[in-house]
Amino acid sequence: MTQPEPFRIKMVEQLNRLTEAERRDRIEKKGYNVFKLKSREVFIDLLTDSGMSALSDEQWARMITTDQAYAGSDSYEMLSSAVSDIFGFDKFVPVHQGRAAENILFSNVVNEGDFVVNNMHFDTTYANVKHKGGTPVNLVIEDAYDTRKKVDFKGNMDIKKLENFIDEKGVEKIPLIMMTVTNNTAGAQPVSMNNIKKVSKIAKDHDIPFFFDACRFAENAYFIKVREEGYKNKTIQEIVKEMFSHVDGFTFSAKKDGLSNIGGLIGMHDEELHRTCTELGIIIEGFPTYGGMACRELASIAQGLREATDFDYLKYRCKQVEYLGDLLHKEGVPITRPVGGHAVFIDAKRFLPHIPQEEFPAQALTTQLYIKSGIRGVELGSSAFGETDEDGNIIPAPFEHMRLAIPRRVYSLNQLKYVAESVIELYKNREKISGLERVYAPELLGHFMAEFKPIKGKN
Ligand SMILES: *Cc1c(COP(=O)(O)O)cnc(C)c1O
Repeated sequence: MTQPEPFRIKMVEQLNRLTEAERRDRIEKKGYNVFKLKSREVFIDLLTDSGMSALSDEQWARMITTDQAYAGSDSYEMLSSAVSDIFGFDKFVPVHQGRAAENILFSNVVNEGDFVVNNMHFDTTYANVKHKGGTPVNLVIEDAYDTRKKVDFKGNMDIKKLENFIDEKGVEKIPLIMMTVTNNTAGAQPVSMNNIKKVSKIAKDHDIPFFFDACRFAENAYFIKVREEGYKNKTIQEIVKEMFSHVDGFTFSAKKDGLSNIGGLIGMHDEELHRTCTELGIIIEGFPTYGGMACRELASIAQGLREATDFDYLKYRCKQVEYLGDLLHKEGVPITRPVGGHAVFIDAKRFLPHIPQEEFPAQALTTQLYIKSGIRGVELGSSAFGETDEDGNIIPAPFEHMRLAIPRRVYSLNQLKYVAESVIELYKNREKISGLERVYAPELLGHFMAEFKPIKGKN
């Protein structure tokens, strides 16, 4: 049965469509980095789902009627009751986005030489661990690295690897075990409740705090409901509560499953941690009842959290992503399977086998898709996650993805069909695409500012 949108459209935004020649000119001027394009130079924007959600009329209504106070705004109360109802956490610190939550949490718990374990770090989480002198370690199951393998919960932590790692490094070097739900980096892949329970037990046995990177907790809960045995008849709210009953805290970006344009929070049960995070929050974000946001943003998040945990919404949402993935897969385009929560991940290693990873095939694909069709995806490969050795040689990342992230409640199925047709067209002409040379990259999160040029004599 078709899963229709559980909403209708009240307001539209006209899109701007440049010609191919114009786009070729713009991207060349921007060093072949799609982050540097103006939004108006993009026709369909699948760079990220972050902060790109269409707000509901209920969200706008609450944003207008809430007060705007430095201290004690009623939007803080709204957010407080949403956090308590949905996550079962009474203590939290609001922040302006997910990475601020990471910065504040890690500032309090990560010391020079520590290891932070995660199924797989997101780029900002990775950078924030490093920024505090720690080493981010990814212990996802091996299946996650095989983009072809259809496994229900490809985001799971490898339990053996986790146990061995703790034995090897010792608990005092591991201040935190994290789990990213869903695992964005490896293809928006969910984690099972069973895996969450196992990791939670190991963390408890070793007295190591266990936190979620909870940006896409609602999509993860949806996959538990439809894929994991024993959860079919549970509500999303019940599943979310159960997930969060196994952790000591979480970081969250409201720009994802908060269905909001900005915002984030850190949730925790520990009183001392709540105090130190609040205090640091005041220094770098603002007073705890607004957390670096306008008060109306807190109202948007409070309402967004409730809408994001609605089953009909989640089903529509995940089916929309699956629709795009299925269109591509049917035509042989290599994508990560199964299709995950918020995005379709195209495997550029298999799409462009003639381009070595040192020549950034996923970046080349991303720029070509923009030039040909005006669609902006994002590279999540050796530019985003690769490292360089002492001689400046590129150490390729395990994945070479072009991610097409679908903003929430924004694009129609026709628009996604156009995206699929555009990618399929590129796939048919893939031999014509050649690699890029990176001419500039800052050390941390370099892909945002990196510049490239076509390899000589090609493109
Ligand atoms: C988006 C995201 C973050 C960071 O959140 P921002 O709001 O962009 O700072 C962290 N972890 C994951 C898994 C994310 O998807």
